[in-house]
Amino acid sequence: MGTGYNYKCKKCGCEFTMFLGSGFLGYESCEKAKDEILSGELGEEWKTAYSSTSRPAICREKAVFICDCCGHWLRDDLTVLYAPDDIESVEEIFGSKEPPYFWFRGEEDGLFRIVKQTEKACPECGKTMRRANEDDFAKFPCPECGEPNAATAGILWD
Ligand SMILES: [Zn+2]
Ligand SMILES: [Zn+2]
Repeated sequence: MGTGYNYKCKKCGCEFTMFLGSGFLGYESCEKAKDEILSGELGEEWKTAYSSTSRPAICREKAVFICDCCGHWLRDDLTVLYAPDDIESVEEIFGSKEPPYFWFRGEEDGLFRIVKQTEKACPECGKTMRRANEDDFAKFPCPECGEPNAATAGILWD
């Protein structure tokens, strides 16, 4: 389940849809992320973080990153490595399955904490971007003309 927003720019009329991160990429993208971590494609840091975590879980989804410094935003892959906060509950739910054994956002369930996640540098100003939240979604600038608060339509569920 994902939450999305429909936008129609008040100034230039362009229309676009944005989705808050969701599970629609599914299990396969998480499997792929795991392969990339294990093969070292994402760098040694990821590999080390993965191998030093007991019962790690991986999630990859499309997310929107926003720069607090200049307001630039973009959509890209977000990979998150989780460690269980409560190993017993995790084993109860997931048994002895190998990770990635879920593709929802683990921290929302309170079962996991984030060990490591994709860090993105803003292509405009070089500052570290953060994941956009619901408030940001209500006031995104138009990707065509830069008009702020371009959103007109409401929330969309998929
Ligand atoms: Zn516009
Ligand atoms: Zn920036």
